[in-house]
Amino acid sequence: MHDFQYKNETLFCEDVAIPKMAEAVGTPFYLYSTATLTRHFAAFDRAFAGIPHITCFAAKSCANIAILRLFASLGGGADIVSGGELFRARTAGVDPQKIVYSGVGKTADEIREALSAGILMLNVESEQELAMIQTVAADLGVKAPVSFRVNPDVDPKTHAYISTGLAKNKFGIPITEALRVYLAASKLSNITIKGVSCHIGSQLTQVAPFVESLAKVKRFIGQLSEQGISITHLDLGGGLGIRYNAEEPPEPAEYARAIKQELAGLACTLILEPGRVIVGNAGALITKVLYTKEGLKKFIIVDAGMNDLARPSLYDAFHLIQAVERPNREQAVADVVGPICETGDFLARERAMPKVEADDLLAVMSAGAYGFSMSSNYNSRPRVAEVLVHGDAFHVIRTRETYETLIQGESIPEFLVS
Ligand SMILES: *Cc1c(COP(=O)(O)O)cnc(C)c1O
Repeated sequence: MHDFQYKNETLFCEDVAIPKMAEAVGTPFYLYSTATLTRHFAAFDRAFAGIPHITCFAAKSCANIAILRLFASLGGGADIVSGGELFRARTAGVDPQKIVYSGVGKTADEIREALSAGILMLNVESEQELAMIQTVAADLGVKAPVSFRVNPDVDPKTHAYISTGLAKNKFGIPITEALRVYLAASKLSNITIKGVSCHIGSQLTQVAPFVESLAKVKRFIGQLSEQGISITHLDLGGGLGIRYNAEEPPEPAEYARAIKQELAGLACTLILEPGRVIVGNAGALITKVLYTKEGLKKFIIVDAGMNDLARPSLYDAFHLIQAVERPNREQAVADVVGPICETGDFLARERAMPKVEADDLLAVMSAGAYGFSMSSNYNSRPRVAEVLVHGDAFHVIRTRETYETLIQGESIPEFLVS
């Protein structure tokens, strides 16, 4: 359920008509609903009620500081993957003790920043990274709280680019080698072992792979405990899928039930890192039709391109595209394409679309996750505005970039100045 609904043939976000916002901020822009974000976060978090847990929102899915602040105000934390996301999370007021840091390539500077901020734990992905953390922690005179991301070799049955839990993926330490790494870590002076982590992929539409990897991790925690290493935190990552089109992913409650059942008896604080399932359907990309082209094929040319929403081009992902006004008009099959000079620049292909004309607004639905956060300046296009609706009010939470922002930091060296 989300809060993008038609009222008299005009699409609203909560109580604000989308054309009104388009007029005020221009197009394209990302639009998010506070009510949907709040409801999705609460539904997920509540599903784990009764067991100690922290819902650490995966910042990379939608990193705006207003969104991070909203989840922090609801008791959430953040799962970060870079120093930039640490900066965002801290600026947004996320409690450092609710921040976990994942990723295969943390730099020494990023590790230093994370340790100085006093985050809950670093999810370590290799032995060389562990050595680096030991060095940095010793230098700072602190003990680094760590968890190791183990790779359970479980097939998440999702798109190859977002599968992370297979032995052939770059992520984590093979679970078969992890015991040796934990034993080595337990001997390091500036390392405190806190947990075990795993994250097997994104947009999972079945519960079984989560349960399978949890079973493996649980067995592993048993082995650790036999060696005298006790774990206080179990990080299960994110990955729960959403409905873009015809998918039927499990509800958070069903996912939580399966996890809780498999957990039985394990006395750990659970860390959850949901991204997409919270924000995906809470956001839309609003774009305007510039031109239509009729020939061998029909094209609807819009003002948003693959630089604004990469998912269709990158993953061949489906996003429902709705006419913001008069959604019930006659339909025709068309490609919805952007202005970028690449054939791969499309938002939809061979799609039955309402017969729209220049200046009509379209809403590209389910764009809240990995939408703005993956956008770029390709073709020197300023990144778009982000708008957050709250009841009958809307707030620009990121202004549209300008041409000046585009060249910020660039300069022409002396030898080229004649
Ligand atoms: C991307 C990522 C997540 C979030 O994944 P979703 O599919 O958006 O829930 C969580 N944890 C880690 C380590 C990630 O890399």
